[in-house]
Amino acid sequence: MLPDLRPLAAPSLVLALLAGCAPSPPATATRLHHPEIIQLGEPTLRRRASEVDPRRIRTPEFQALVDRLIRVMREAPGVGLAAPQLGVPLRVFVMEDREELLRKQTPLELAERERVAYPVRVWVNPEVSPIGERRATFFEGCLSVAGFAGVVERSHEVELRGLDQNGVPQTWRVRGWPARTAQHEQDHLDGTVYVDRMATRSFMRLEAARERFGGRPIAEILHEIGVTPPAPP
Ligand SMILES: [Zn+2]
Repeated sequence: MLPDLRPLAAPSLVLALLAGCAPSPPATATRLHHPEIIQLGEPTLRRRASEVDPRRIRTPEFQALVDRLIRVMREAPGVGLAAPQLGVPLRVFVMEDREELLRKQTPLELAERERVAYPVRVWVNPEVSPIGERRATFFEGCLSVAGFAGVVERSHEVELRGLDQNGVPQTWRVRGWPARTAQHEQDHLDGTVYVDRMATRSFMRLEAARERFGGRPIAEILHEIGVTPPAPP
Protein backbone atom coordinates (compact mmCIF):
# COMPACT_ATOMS: atom_id res chain seq x y z
CA MET A 1 0.00 0.00 0.00
CA LEU A 2 0.96 3.64 0.05
CA PRO A 3 4.65 3.97 0.59
CA ASP A 4 5.64 6.57 3.10
CA LEU A 5 6.01 10.01 1.58
CA ARG A 6 9.59 10.71 2.64
CA PRO A 7 12.74 9.51 0.83
CA LEU A 8 14.51 6.64 2.53
CA ALA A 9 18.16 6.66 3.46
CA ALA A 10 20.07 4.40 1.10
CA PRO A 11 21.77 1.28 2.48
CA SER A 12 25.02 2.97 1.53
CA LEU A 13 27.33 0.18 2.69
CA VAL A 14 25.54 -2.38 0.50
CA LEU A 15 25.51 0.00 -2.45
CA ALA A 16 29.19 0.77 -1.98
CA LEU A 17 29.99 -2.96 -1.96
CA LEU A 18 27.92 -3.58 -5.08
CA ALA A 19 29.53 -0.65 -6.80
CA GLY A 20 33.03 -1.92 -6.14
CA CYS A 21 35.37 1.04 -5.97
CA ALA A 22 32.78 3.54 -7.19
CA PRO A 23 32.34 6.59 -4.97
CA SER A 24 29.84 6.19 -2.14
CA PRO A 25 26.35 7.41 -3.02
CA PRO A 26 25.16 10.54 -1.24
CA ALA A 27 23.51 9.81 2.11
CA THR A 28 20.23 11.19 0.82
CA ALA A 29 19.98 8.79 -2.17
CA THR A 30 16.55 7.20 -2.46
CA ARG A 31 16.26 3.43 -2.17
CA LEU A 32 14.14 2.21 -5.07
CA HIS A 33 12.27 -0.47 -3.16
CA HIS A 34 12.55 -2.80 -0.18
CA PRO A 35 14.78 -5.72 -1.27
CA GLU A 36 12.28 -8.34 -0.03
CA ILE A 37 9.27 -6.86 -1.87
CA ILE A 38 8.82 -8.17 -5.41
CA GLN A 39 8.03 -5.66 -8.12
CA LEU A 40 5.45 -5.53 -10.91
CA GLY A 41 6.49 -7.95 -13.63
CA GLU A 42 6.85 -10.89 -11.26
CA PRO A 43 4.10 -13.40 -12.11
CA THR A 44 3.13 -13.95 -8.44
CA LEU A 45 1.70 -10.42 -8.33
CA ARG A 46 -0.70 -11.34 -11.13
CA ARG A 47 -2.01 -14.69 -9.84
CA ARG A 48 -4.86 -15.50 -7.53
CA ALA A 49 -3.34 -16.49 -4.18
CA SER A 50 -4.40 -19.76 -2.49
CA GLU A 51 -6.59 -20.10 0.59
CA VAL A 52 -4.66 -20.85 3.76
CA ASP A 53 -5.54 -24.16 5.42
CA PRO A 54 -6.63 -22.95 8.89
CA ARG A 55 -4.75 -25.87 10.45
CA ARG A 56 -1.53 -24.33 9.18
CA ILE A 57 -2.01 -20.98 10.90
CA ARG A 58 -0.46 -21.97 14.20
CA THR A 59 2.59 -23.63 12.67
CA PRO A 60 5.99 -21.96 13.16
CA GLU A 61 6.33 -21.61 9.38
CA PHE A 62 3.12 -19.64 9.02
CA GLN A 63 3.85 -17.53 12.10
CA ALA A 64 7.24 -16.73 10.59
CA LEU A 65 5.48 -15.51 7.44
CA VAL A 66 3.24 -13.23 9.53
CA ASP A 67 6.24 -11.87 11.42
CA ARG A 68 8.04 -11.21 8.15
CA LEU A 69 5.06 -9.41 6.63
CA ILE A 70 4.87 -7.11 9.65
CA ARG A 71 8.62 -6.49 9.72
CA VAL A 72 8.88 -5.69 6.00
CA MET A 73 5.74 -3.49 6.06
CA ARG A 74 7.33 -1.42 8.86
CA GLU A 75 10.75 -1.30 7.23
CA ALA A 76 9.41 -0.24 3.83
CA PRO A 77 7.57 1.70 5.38
CA GLY A 78 3.97 1.16 4.34
CA VAL A 79 0.51 0.78 5.85
CA GLY A 80 -0.19 -2.67 4.40
CA LEU A 81 1.53 -5.65 2.81
CA ALA A 82 0.15 -8.81 1.22
CA ALA A 83 1.93 -12.17 1.12
CA PRO A 84 2.13 -12.23 -2.71
CA GLN A 85 4.32 -9.11 -2.44
CA LEU A 86 6.89 -11.30 -0.71
CA GLY A 87 6.49 -13.86 -3.49
CA VAL A 88 4.29 -16.07 -1.25
CA PRO A 89 1.01 -16.93 -3.05
CA LEU A 90 -1.21 -17.19 0.04
CA ARG A 91 -4.32 -15.25 1.06
CA VAL A 92 -2.90 -13.25 3.95
CA PHE A 93 -2.16 -9.59 4.47
CA VAL A 94 -1.22 -7.25 7.29
CA MET A 95 -2.19 -3.61 7.83
CA GLU A 96 -1.26 -0.95 10.36
CA ASP A 97 -1.00 2.82 10.58
CA ARG A 98 1.36 4.46 13.03
CA GLU A 99 1.63 7.89 14.65
CA GLU A 100 5.13 8.13 13.20
CA LEU A 101 3.67 7.98 9.67
CA LEU A 102 0.73 10.26 10.46
CA ARG A 103 3.10 12.99 11.64
CA LYS A 104 4.32 13.34 8.05
CA GLN A 105 0.84 14.34 6.84
CA THR A 106 -0.77 17.74 7.21
CA PRO A 107 -3.97 18.05 9.30
CA LEU A 108 -5.90 18.62 6.04
CA GLU A 109 -4.50 15.44 4.49
CA LEU A 110 -5.29 13.42 7.61
CA ALA A 111 -8.83 14.79 7.78
CA GLU A 112 -9.68 14.34 4.10
CA ARG A 113 -8.32 10.80 4.04
CA GLU A 114 -9.81 9.93 7.45
CA ARG A 115 -6.42 8.54 8.30
CA VAL A 116 -6.00 7.33 11.89
CA ALA A 117 -3.47 5.25 13.78
CA TYR A 118 -4.44 1.65 14.54
CA PRO A 119 -2.50 -1.38 15.77
CA VAL A 120 -1.34 -4.06 13.35
CA ARG A 121 -4.05 -6.41 12.09
CA VAL A 122 -3.40 -9.74 10.39
CA TRP A 123 -5.99 -11.08 7.92
CA VAL A 124 -6.02 -14.70 6.76
CA ASN A 125 -8.46 -15.76 4.02
CA PRO A 126 -10.16 -12.34 4.18
CA GLU A 127 -13.18 -11.01 2.34
CA VAL A 128 -13.71 -7.27 1.92
CA SER A 129 -17.25 -6.02 1.20
CA PRO A 130 -18.27 -2.42 0.47
CA ILE A 131 -20.74 -0.76 2.83
CA GLY A 132 -23.02 1.84 1.27
CA GLU A 133 -22.60 3.70 -2.00
CA ARG A 134 -20.14 6.40 -0.97
CA ARG A 135 -16.85 6.47 -2.91
CA ALA A 136 -13.53 8.19 -2.19
CA THR A 137 -10.79 9.19 -4.64
CA PHE A 138 -7.16 9.77 -3.64
CA PHE A 139 -3.62 9.14 -4.78
CA GLU A 140 -2.25 5.80 -3.70
CA GLY A 141 0.93 3.92 -4.36
CA CYS A 142 2.16 0.36 -3.98
CA LEU A 143 5.37 -1.02 -2.55
CA SER A 144 5.44 -3.38 -5.58
CA VAL A 145 5.20 -0.47 -8.05
CA ALA A 146 7.96 1.50 -6.37
CA GLY A 147 8.38 5.15 -7.24
CA PHE A 148 4.95 5.81 -8.74
CA ALA A 149 1.47 6.91 -7.67
CA GLY A 150 -1.97 7.19 -9.23
CA VAL A 151 -5.48 8.28 -8.31
CA VAL A 152 -7.86 5.44 -7.43
CA GLU A 153 -11.57 5.58 -6.63
CA ARG A 154 -12.62 3.09 -3.95
CA SER A 155 -15.42 2.41 -1.49
CA HIS A 156 -15.36 4.81 1.42
CA GLU A 157 -16.41 2.15 3.92
CA VAL A 158 -15.98 -1.64 3.98
CA GLU A 159 -16.42 -4.66 6.18
CA LEU A 160 -13.57 -7.14 6.50
CA ARG A 161 -14.16 -10.76 7.49
CA GLY A 162 -11.48 -13.37 7.94
CA LEU A 163 -9.24 -15.13 10.42
CA ASP A 164 -6.61 -13.48 12.60
CA GLN A 165 -3.04 -14.71 13.19
CA ASN A 166 -4.37 -17.32 15.65
CA GLY A 167 -7.03 -18.63 13.29
CA VAL A 168 -9.83 -16.89 15.21
CA PRO A 169 -12.65 -15.39 13.08
CA GLN A 170 -12.76 -11.58 13.11
CA THR A 171 -14.77 -8.84 11.44
CA TRP A 172 -13.98 -5.12 11.16
CA ARG A 173 -16.17 -2.38 9.77
CA VAL A 174 -13.97 0.52 8.84
CA ARG A 175 -13.98 3.73 6.79
CA GLY A 176 -11.49 6.18 5.36
CA TRP A 177 -7.83 5.28 4.83
CA PRO A 178 -7.89 1.84 6.49
CA ALA A 179 -10.84 0.95 4.22
CA ARG A 180 -8.73 1.96 1.22
CA THR A 181 -5.78 -0.05 2.53
CA ALA A 182 -7.95 -3.14 3.00
CA GLN A 183 -9.29 -2.92 -0.56
CA HIS A 184 -5.79 -2.43 -1.96
CA GLU A 185 -4.39 -5.44 -0.06
CA GLN A 186 -7.39 -7.64 -0.86
CA ASP A 187 -6.79 -6.86 -4.55
CA HIS A 188 -3.26 -8.25 -4.22
CA LEU A 189 -4.73 -11.62 -3.19
CA ASP A 190 -6.57 -11.73 -6.53
CA GLY A 191 -3.63 -10.64 -8.68
CA THR A 192 -4.99 -7.11 -9.07
CA VAL A 193 -2.76 -4.06 -8.70
CA TYR A 194 -3.94 -0.46 -8.24
CA VAL A 195 -2.79 0.46 -11.74
CA ASP A 196 -5.69 -1.70 -13.00
CA ARG A 197 -8.13 0.63 -11.21
CA MET A 198 -6.49 4.05 -11.38
CA ALA A 199 -7.40 7.02 -13.51
CA THR A 200 -4.55 6.45 -15.98
CA ARG A 201 -3.96 10.12 -16.67
CA SER A 202 -3.08 10.59 -12.98
CA PHE A 203 -0.20 8.07 -13.08
CA MET A 204 3.06 9.80 -12.21
CA ARG A 205 6.32 9.59 -10.33
CA LEU A 206 5.76 9.55 -6.59
CA GLU A 207 8.18 12.45 -6.19
CA ALA A 208 6.18 14.54 -8.66
CA ALA A 209 2.95 13.76 -6.80
CA ARG A 210 4.57 14.83 -3.53
CA GLU A 211 6.00 18.02 -4.95
CA ARG A 212 2.92 19.10 -6.83
CA PHE A 213 0.11 17.97 -4.56
CA GLY A 214 1.48 17.48 -1.02
CA GLY A 215 -0.77 19.27 1.49
CA ARG A 216 -3.34 20.46 -1.06
CA PRO A 217 -7.09 19.77 -0.96
CA ILE A 218 -8.11 16.68 -2.94
CA ALA A 219 -10.80 18.54 -4.92
CA GLU A 220 -8.14 20.94 -6.19
CA ILE A 221 -5.77 18.07 -7.05
CA LEU A 222 -8.40 16.14 -9.01
CA HIS A 223 -9.41 19.28 -10.87
CA GLU A 224 -5.82 20.01 -11.83
CA ILE A 225 -5.19 16.44 -13.05
CA GLY A 226 -8.51 16.35 -14.88
CA VAL A 227 -10.04 13.48 -12.89
CA THR A 228 -13.76 13.59 -12.12
CA PRO A 229 -14.40 13.32 -8.39
CA PRO A 230 -16.87 10.64 -7.26
CA ALA A 231 -20.54 11.64 -7.36
CA PRO A 232 -22.15 11.94 -3.93
CA PRO A 233 -24.30 8.86 -3.13
ZN1 LIG B 1 0.29 -2.82 -3.14
